[in-house]
Amino acid sequence: MRRVEHLTGRVFPVVLLVAASLWLGGCALRTFPFDPERHGRSLSEREAAEPGVRSRLCRDFPPYIPDESANGQGVIHRTLRVNYHYVNARDSSHNFNAEVGTPFAYELTREINKKLAQNIPMSLPAAKGVPVLPTRMSLVITPIAGSSWDDGVYYHYDDELYAYVHKGANRNNSDRRVIERYAIRPDSVINIFILPHHPDSVGRPGYPSGGVGIALGTSIKISGVWEHKLPPSEYAGMTLHEIGHILGLAHTWQFNDGCEDTPHHPNCFNVGEVRCGDTLLSNNVMDYNTWQQAWTPCQLGKAHRNLARVDGAARRYVVRDWCTRRPEGDIRVTGQEIWDGERDLQGHLDILPGATLTIRCRVSMPEGAALTVHPGGTLILDGARLHNDCGLPWAGIRLMQQGRRKGKVYLGKDWRLE
Ligand SMILES: [Zn+2]
Repeated sequence: MRRVEHLTGRVFPVVLLVAASLWLGGCALRTFPFDPERHGRSLSEREAAEPGVRSRLCRDFPPYIPDESANGQGVIHRTLRVNYHYVNARDSSHNFNAEVGTPFAYELTREINKKLAQNIPMSLPAAKGVPVLPTRMSLVITPIAGSSWDDGVYYHYDDELYAYVHKGANRNNSDRRVIERYAIRPDSVINIFILPHHPDSVGRPGYPSGGVGIALGTSIKISGVWEHKLPPSEYAGMTLHEIGHILGLAHTWQFNDGCEDTPHHPNCFNVGEVRCGDTLLSNNVMDYNTWQQAWTPCQLGKAHRNLARVDGAARRYVVRDWCTRRPEGDIRVTGQEIWDGERDLQGHLDILPGATLTIRCRVSMPEGAALTVHPGGTLILDGARLHNDCGLPWAGIRLMQQGRRKGKVYLGKDWRLE
């Protein structure tokens, strides 16, 4: 159905825009705004994808794998907002003070970003040959904007809630009260709580007082950091693992995690465990191990799907750097491309002569950016929704014409311009 009611004057000025009026070989090169009623050609039933197929394409993870395909190249770098909380006893005896804790939190973030910047091959023999792709993710500590006192690292003194109990009768690792009491902007920032193990538990036989963590909805609790005085790098994998849960990933060794490229294994932590020998050790981020650094294409596809979809579980934590245009974000389509995942473009989009672009999902255009179909170029909107995700005006679709050669737009049954 044609949704002309969305074509506002702001986005699609009625006045003919002659943006370029060059004379090339005697033919004027004209640019004018796309009017669906006048210029839209309907896509045949045979060419249009079934609605069910289209919505599945937007929802499934393969188009979000950051590989070299046309879909993969559209997976942009995502920066995730985090903040840190040290929870201590009222007498300050059980956690870092600000002098130590704040540099520790910043260093921990740098170490996590190092792991994210350097994906490594899977170590399990059954995962040999699984491609090693860039994660295209990083973290940034995010204070409250405009608060000069705020550095994104907070200190709380609370005898009732400061301690973490991982195991036993008083286990409280999944207790959310400390999060509910102290989280700051949990709607848009991943809150990481660093708590000491409970002094009554530490030293008890069978109580693991090393580094442990749990992801609880929008926040993370980790423990065993203050006690051992180890460098932040020792906790980077563990914290990243919990962020993996927030990104929508599951453990790989227990159940089917929905990924074919994460083989089952005994989940050994380090070399020397008899049941794993020398080869069955995993280094995957979603297992328990010393490295927690390898991401498979499927895991990256799932994470980026949850960051890219407007209703994605982790999208609210992403720095929204797609609202306005950046010159390096311009995209030129030169061949035949089909875009199957939701995208947030950061620049103009040009479909060059001879090229065809089929858009099947949501695409956000940055403020002021144009989607230009050059003479001989083709745009197919088949399930597409084009908009600015930040509520800002964009320049709309522009068609170029030179002589009898025009940019063409084909419309399927379901498309939307906002
Ligand atoms: Zn886990």
